[in-house]
Amino acid sequence: MMMPNSVNMARVIDPALAKVQPVMVCADNPPRRVYQGGMEQLSVGIAGCGIGGLAAGSLLRQQGHAVTIFDQFDTPAPVGSGLMIQPVGMDVLDRIGAGEAVRRHAAPIARMYGSENGKTVLDVNYGKARGLAIHRASLFDALYQAAAKAGCQIISAARVTAAPLIDGKRHIQLENDQTYPFDLVIDASGARSVLSPLKRKPLPFGALWASVDWAEGGKVPQQLTQRYHRASKMAGILPIGTLPGETTQKAAIFWSLPVSDYPDWQETPLEDWKADVIRFWPSMAPFLDQIAHHNDMTFASYSHGTLYQPYDRALAYIGDAAHTTSPQLGQGANMALLDAQALAMALVALPVESALRQYAQSRQRHLATYQGMSRYFTPVYQSNRLILPILRNTLFATVNKLMLTQRIMTRIVSGDLVKPIRTNAKPSGNYWDTLP
Ligand SMILES: Cc1cc2nc3c(=O)[nH]c(=O)nc-3n(C[C@H](O)[C@H](O)[C@H](O)COP(=O)(O)OP(=O)(O)OC[C@H]3O[C@@H](n4cnc5c(N)ncnc54)[C@H](O)[C@@H]3O)c2cc1C
Repeated sequence: MMMPNSVNMARVIDPALAKVQPVMVCADNPPRRVYQGGMEQLSVGIAGCGIGGLAAGSLLRQQGHAVTIFDQFDTPAPVGSGLMIQPVGMDVLDRIGAGEAVRRHAAPIARMYGSENGKTVLDVNYGKARGLAIHRASLFDALYQAAAKAGCQIISAARVTAAPLIDGKRHIQLENDQTYPFDLVIDASGARSVLSPLKRKPLPFGALWASVDWAEGGKVPQQLTQRYHRASKMAGILPIGTLPGETTQKAAIFWSLPVSDYPDWQETPLEDWKADVIRFWPSMAPFLDQIAHHNDMTFASYSHGTLYQPYDRALAYIGDAAHTTSPQLGQGANMALLDAQALAMALVALPVESALRQYAQSRQRHLATYQGMSRYFTPVYQSNRLILPILRNTLFATVNKLMLTQRIMTRIVSGDLVKPIRTNAKPSGNYWDTLP
């Protein structure tokens, strides 16, 4: 149902109250105006109130565009455990105004360390720039507050089903058939986007994840620690800081599992599984003590896929809607943040259609590099291969002492092995001068 000139009832989240309230939402296009730098004010509709959607919304509001974000959730509820924010992602969070809140809650990570049978097989130091590990709820909260402060309109309980082009305008169509017209629609609805033509290749391994309290005494280490057996077994402990309004330090724990083994795992008595894991890595014991039911662990499956043209007419795909990968390199959230920034940069410089091309080009090399590396690294740490992990361990022992190797590894995990956003477009507005 098209409602071009109407006022609709929808459910808008009031961030101050953190609950959903039915309110009046004006779905009209805002009046156009030309402002600083000759840029035209656009009406922008965003499908997905996750990492990429909130970042893009904040950045585009900062530029003066009218932004409406739609999400299927009833209340703000990020799914999942903890994740790593790399220095390149922090730059974007700082630009949005979410950096301070993220630093307040996140755990600094100086090192990624992995071992097999007591031998070090992964040891990457961040150098001066730290990575940050954060609970998803804390990251979401920081992004959400920034987007609300910037003036984004956030509509919940709004499941997007299509984004048709009607009379030159891209529309967001909801499950209830309401349709909203926009100058630009951004698909930020993640790995299960119904709008994106992305073809995803499911990966054979996923992982069981949980957020628990930091269980060991003493100082929380600034380290992601992993244990391996070949590539078929992997366990990890990652400090992820605190939840909003809480002071208890949390940890994300994970256990690699073939997707095909998940049904069996659900049938296995929990205590048997816990005993297996603890035999494999005794340090997991105080964390696993907090797991009382199978449901306390969430199974995440992964896929690989890249959309080579992440745009269509008046439509941009960002984040996991444009590219998916395993979390081996800890770059997914960063990629979504960088996409949002690249799109915002392109829209400052160029009219929409040229900006979309520019957005895609500016991210192409960085994405190709990290998608390629991720495809290579994933089976090295999660697969049933026998030779690959032996090569991994041998290669590590040979080259890790070299300064150059360490520098390259630091840059890989920091997310800036190649320039994250490459662009030649130069607008006249002052906004550009503030970009890195
Ligand atoms: C177990 C696991 C561990 C990970 N670890 C890391 C890590 O350490 N570092 C890292 O950088 N990345 C990590 N990632 C990847 C990272 O979580 C994603 O890359 C990132 O969240 C992508 O952001 P996004 O904005 O594209 O999508 P999301 O953050 O997934 O947001 C999508 C939003 O769209 C909404 N939505 C979906 N469909 C619809 C619809 N039809 N209508 C309306 N709304 C919709 C969803 O409710 C959600 O709010 C990990 C992923 C997993 C699964």
